[in-house]
Amino acid sequence: MAHKITDDCVACGACMAECPVEAISEGDEIYKIDPETCTDCGSCVEVCPNDAIVAG
Ligand code: SF4
Repeated sequence: MAHKITDDCVACGACMAECPVEAISEGDEIYKIDPETCTDCGSCVEVCPNDAIVAG
């Protein structure tokens, strides 16, 4: 299961730089994680200022 970005995302972009496999991209309003690419490493979770990234 891939990690997910919830509606708590404030689109700050902090997580995108953190992902080692570039699974995170800017969506329409909030950021999104490509489930095919995400390896569930969890690196993005700590950098989110709004706790918007959750395990899938
Ligand atoms: Fe990227 Fe790891 Fe977050 Fe998945 S859990 S989106 S691989 S930083």
